[in-house]
Amino acid sequence: MEPRGTKRGAEKITVAEPCNKLPRPAPSLPTEPALYSGPFPFYRRPSELGCFSLDAQRQYHGDARALRYYSPPPTTGQSPNFDLRDGYPDHYQTRDEEVQERLDHLLHWLLEHRGQLEGGPSWLAGAIVTWRGHLTKLLTTPYERQEGWQLAACRFQGTLYLSEVETPAARVQRLNRPPLLRELMYMGYKFEQYMCADKPGGSPDPSGEVNTNVAFCSVLRSRLGNHPLLFSGEVDCTDPQAPSTQPPTCYVELKTSKEMHSPGQWKSFYRHKLLKWWAQSFLLGVPNVVAGFRNPEGFVCSLKTFPTMEMFEYVRNDRDGWNPSVCMNFCAAFLSFAQNTVVQDDPRLVYLFSWEPGGPVTVSEQRDALHAFLPTWYVEAMTQELPSPAKTPSPKD
Ligand code: GDP
Ligand code: MG
Repeated sequence: MEPRGTKRGAEKITVAEPCNKLPRPAPSLPTEPALYSGPFPFYRRPSELGCFSLDAQRQYHGDARALRYYSPPPTTGQSPNFDLRDGYPDHYQTRDEEVQERLDHLLHWLLEHRGQLEGGPSWLAGAIVTWRGHLTKLLTTPYERQEGWQLAACRFQGTLYLSEVETPAARVQRLNRPPLLRELMYMGYKFEQYMCADKPGGSPDPSGEVNTNVAFCSVLRSRLGNHPLLFSGEVDCTDPQAPSTQPPTCYVELKTSKEMHSPGQWKSFYRHKLLKWWAQSFLLGVPNVVAGFRNPEGFVCSLKTFPTMEMFEYVRNDRDGWNPSVCMNFCAAFLSFAQNTVVQDDPRLVYLFSWEPGGPVTVSEQRDALHAFLPTWYVEAMTQELPSPAKTPSPKD
């Protein structure tokens, strides 16, 4: 855990300086890559603590029922010919994006498992709880030039919770999503259907519905620098033939991308897309990303596996490439910034961290109920004492 008491004391001394009457500028965090190019920080190999599933109605289940099994076409046969537009739009059921789920499903899992967390009951009090997707956005921030983000943070029983808030610009984009983009999103899910079976050793069934409510989520423990992490991320499938059947090393991430024809197209792919793929899979410990390259007609005719640990090699000698150390050092710096900002333990006191490309991360205090994101059911249940473990019968019983 951060020695927050000491830091608070140190800050008070600075404020008490008699000759410094100027108001302190609001704290902010710069994001320029050059500031974060040190050695790669410590990142604990992520270990899976558990999992949960969301069904076709987006209902939570504390099991792996939504997990699918990697089932690629035989490498000996012809090249694949997956029609990613097949079934669109008739067989497309989308999650209601107006529903802000925030951390709710992860909190549901945490409430049920808080008594059995490795590291003991005090471990959670020093941890940061969030979605993997939020950490991915932090990792890519030093290189992002298009989309900003907002992260809400609060401290409760020692734990720091981070939950994304949709920016006004992202909301406008979502509500005005062009039909072609909606179809592209369908195509990504359709690729998963061509590559996954419902049972280990089974065959894919591309005839069914694509329903984006369904999700399998892994819950992991890790640590970045001195920040213990508990986060969850959606996993596409597990490979029953993987060298290790131990999650997360058996997991596979599936992606689609435009077929490339020129060296310039490949270079741009390595600089932009591989960064996002690397950040997402590295955080969760997913060893391989399998890409399906689609032609202009929407057919996947070739597959390529990108080992997560080899992705950086494609940009290592590129002056305009990305660097994993910068991503991880920035993320660690943001987590320290958040730890030092969110000092009061109060689930109703929310700090909103905001970032737009070209600027620093800024922060504002939000005391209104609108921004509070830990649900009452969670806060109340966590405030109750842990249900005592079932009494083990003594020899006399
Ligand atoms: P990812 O890495 O961006 O895919 O996000 P995570 O793996 O951290 O997913 C966390 C949870 O958010 C899962 O329940 C996902 O189904 C859900 N999720 C993923 N992407 C989106 C999105 O674009 N919008 C919303 N509302 N939920 C999403
Ligand atoms: Mg995927």
